[in-house]
Parts: sequence; structure tokens; C-alpha cells
Amino acid sequence: MTEFEPIIGLEVHAELQTRSKMFCGCAVVDSVSATANTRVCEICTGMPGTLPVINRRAVEFAIRVALALHCEIAETSIFARKNYFYPDLPKGFQISQYELPLAVNGWMMITTNGEEKRIAIRRVHLEEDTGKLTHRQTNSLIDYNRSGVPLLEIVSEPDLRSIDEVRAYAIALRSLLRFLEVSSADMEKGVIRFEANISVRPQGAEILGTRTEIKNLNSLRAMAQAISYEIDRQSRLLANGQEVRQETLGWDEGLKVTVPQRGKEEAHDYRYFPEPDLPPLHLERSWIEEIRAKLPELARAKRQRYVDELKLNPYTADVLTNEKDIADYFEATVAAAPDLPAQQIGHWIGGPLFSLLNDAGIKIRETLISVEQLSELIGLVELGKISNSSAKAVLTEMFASGAGASQIIEAQGLEILADSAIIDGHIEKVLVEFPDQVQQYLLGKEPIFEWLFGQVMRATSGRSDPQRLRQALARQLRALDKRQPPA
Ligand code: ADP
Ligand code: ZN
Ligand code: MG
Repeated sequence: MTEFEPIIGLEVHAELQTRSKMFCGCAVVDSVSATANTRVCEICTGMPGTLPVINRRAVEFAIRVALALHCEIAETSIFARKNYFYPDLPKGFQISQYELPLAVNGWMMITTNGEEKRIAIRRVHLEEDTGKLTHRQTNSLIDYNRSGVPLLEIVSEPDLRSIDEVRAYAIALRSLLRFLEVSSADMEKGVIRFEANISVRPQGAEILGTRTEIKNLNSLRAMAQAISYEIDRQSRLLANGQEVRQETLGWDEGLKVTVPQRGKEEAHDYRYFPEPDLPPLHLERSWIEEIRAKLPELARAKRQRYVDELKLNPYTADVLTNEKDIADYFEATVAAAPDLPAQQIGHWIGGPLFSLLNDAGIKIRETLISVEQLSELIGLVELGKISNSSAKAVLTEMFASGAGASQIIEAQGLEILADSAIIDGHIEKVLVEFPDQVQQYLLGKEPIFEWLFGQVMRATSGRSDPQRLRQALARQLRALDKRQPPA
């Protein structure tokens, strides 16, 4: 049987979270938290006789993204009217960029299974979002709060070859938007939305097959399922000698199938023409360079720096840079505690703190532990004031109550036993309590040492410094050994 190779290109729409909308002064809000139709005016609802004005901040955000995607930025781009009739579009047209987009020819790196791949970006352009329709049993609701929100469209070349690559691309793009601070890129709230173009071709073929486009994929999971369904469907058609029809599809979440969509017409029917109410968008080179100079460090660069300069292991560096807020928290802690090894800080945030956050299902922004409190705790571990295992318990308590480390350590008596006489006392007791095990050890059963070590550690409620305990235990066992009559 012929093997088919999937070819996928993504169109991504991201709402830019500027203060005001693309062409009017209405506030940008997300559709979940604001009351419907409370952020609207005559411009974004398309009243006759109104004039749009380009939001400079939205253009700046778009340039930021385009630069981060290594695009060529057009010194002149044109806004056009994309005409179609739909209830979410009161004007009867959407202002978008068509023939002359803001930016073209970029790329972004993705990593799948440890392999790097460069995905080409075809174009990045600015447009305005439409209103939000909610379909119910017998009627539909419309929220114009979203109408006119700045929307950035990012179109990839058909460079993606698997679901894994699609997922990596989507996640990398989301991370990029967040690190650039232009969008929350929140999929659940519809702030970032995906459309996938899919075709298949016989393995080794040169030309691309006919593609279908799946609209409105609103989660990574739905996107993966829909694409995988479509790859199977198209491969089966071709294997049976049938043809794939170029069409626009929707994803039926309940039935888990793609379904042909009626509705918005094909591209040639949009009757694009330059928006007569807006001048061409001219961008000063100097402004673009100013924006370039202020680009923040992105996830990939951070990850590399954490490994190269801060000597974090790649796994921890990954965990810390997956989310901007985590990276920010890590860097703030490093800044707050310049004397502590960054590796230790990375370990505590990427390990124990990260699992506490996961278990509680909260974001790092919501944690009660301040960076100062965390660095205090790590400092106490570094100074040998508390053991690692106690420190984990202290962190859990800090996480739950927001109390400081010292306070908890004092209240629970967790400070490490600094008095060697006390440790020696605990060891003696254990050795007397378990004569058989001691005997076995002395007869050469080495692993018993660890067991005895565990017993003493338990006797001190985990408050011993492991290394000191180890030395003290070895010393006492050696002393016993000397007293043994030769076997
Ligand atoms: P439109 O959807 O407006 O017609 P394009 O023709 O530029 O726009 O293509 C949109 C998307 O489809 C791009 O992401 C592109 O990479 C992808 N694409 C184009 N041809 C194919 C193909 N044969 N198979 C899969 N994806 C494709
Ligand atoms: Zn408005
Ligand atoms: Mg398309």
C-alpha cells in the first residue's frame, strides 16, 4: 500500500491585547470576563459616516511579532476591505491587509523529539476581529465587544509534516506572543485561534496535493484530532483512487469528524479593495529599529542562557522557560539572592515548587510564596540549617499558608541537629536496638549501612545533615568492628 505524507500549514489568529481597539477608542476586553456589548461605539459597530483611525500601539505589537519571526517588514502596507455578509460583521466588510501585508518571509524554529526544524512564515498581517457569535438551540447571541479588536494573522508555509510538529509550532508561537507581551494567547478564551490546511501526497512525491482547510480549532487537542482525522480521510480517498476536494471544513467535537462548512465565500468572492478611509501604512525604518532594539529575550534564548551561563540542566531550563511567568519568577529570585547558586534556585522552582503549583492547579502568579521568602528558604538549606527533606516540608507549608521559612522551621522544630552529641546518641540507640543488622553489616553485608542510616535519620525526624550522619555512623560502626573478636 502507498504510504502518504501529510503536509500541513497553519493560519493563526491572535488578538493583540492593546488598551484600545484597532480603529477606535473602545477598550479591548476578553469575551469571558466582560459583559457583552459594553465596549462598543459607532466605529466598531460600523455606523455610516464614521472614520477608522489606525492604532499605533497595535502596529508596534505587530512589528514586534514580525521581527521576532525574522520577517521582512514592508515600509508601506495597505489596509483593504474584505467584503462579506455575516451577522458578526456589522459593517459588511472586515478591514484587513491583503496584497501588501505588514510582513513576509519569516521563520521560527521548533523542536520535536530533540530535533530542530525551521518552519517558514509566509506572511504576518494586521486586521480587525469580528463580533462573537454564540449559537443556541433556537437563537444566536452576538457580542460586539470583540468587533474591532486588533487581530494579527500569522500564516506559515506548508512546512509541517506531523501532528507533533503542528503541536510544537502552535506552542512555540503561543510562547513567542506571551514573551513579547502582545497577547495572552489564551486558547480557552479564544484569544488565539487556529486554522489548519492539510493535504497528503504519496511518500516521495514532489508536488503538493489538494488541500482542505479546517476552521475554528479551539484547543490543541481538537486541532490534533481534527488534523489526524483529515490525514486518514484524505489518505483513504487517494488510496481508493478518488480525489480530495478543496474545501473548508469544520470540526465536529461530538462526532469527532470534519464536516464541510457552508458560509463565508471563497477568496475571489471577497471583492478586496483598498480601504478608502485609511491611508497606506508607512513605517519609519528608525521606528522599526527602535522596536527591534527593545525586543525582550525569548524562550529559546533564555533556555540556552540558563544552560550556558547559569549552568542549569537542560530539563530544568526547559521547565523554567515554558511559561513567561515562571521564567520571570526564577529571574526575580536570582536577582533577589545573588549569593545563592542559580542552579539551586532553578532546582527548587522547577522541581518542588512546580509540582506544588501543578497539584494545586494554580499559576505561579497566584502563589503566596514571594521570591524573597523562597530565597530565604534556599539560603537556609545552603547554610545547612535545615535538611533537604525538611525544606520540602517547609516549602509545602509556605505554599499553603504564606508564612515565612524561619517561622515555620522554628514552630515545627525542624532546624538541623547541630550538636554532634545528640546525633551520636541517636546512633547508639539504633545500634543497640538492631543488633542482628549490625552483626550482618560487620560480617560484610555492606547495603545494611543504608538501612541503618535510614533508621537513624528517622529517629532524628529527618533533622540530621545526611553527610554528618553518614560520617558519624561509619565512625561508630568502625569502633564496634575493632571490638569484634576475629571470626
Ligand atoms: P488562503 O487560505 O487564504 O487561500 P493560502 O493559499 O495562502 O491562503 O494558504 C493558506 C495556508 O495553506 C498556508 O498556511 C499554506 O501554508 C497552506 N497550504 C497551501 N497549500 C497547501 C497544501 N497543498 N497542503 C497543505 N497546506 C497548504
Ligand atoms: Zn469602538
Ligand atoms: Mg485560509
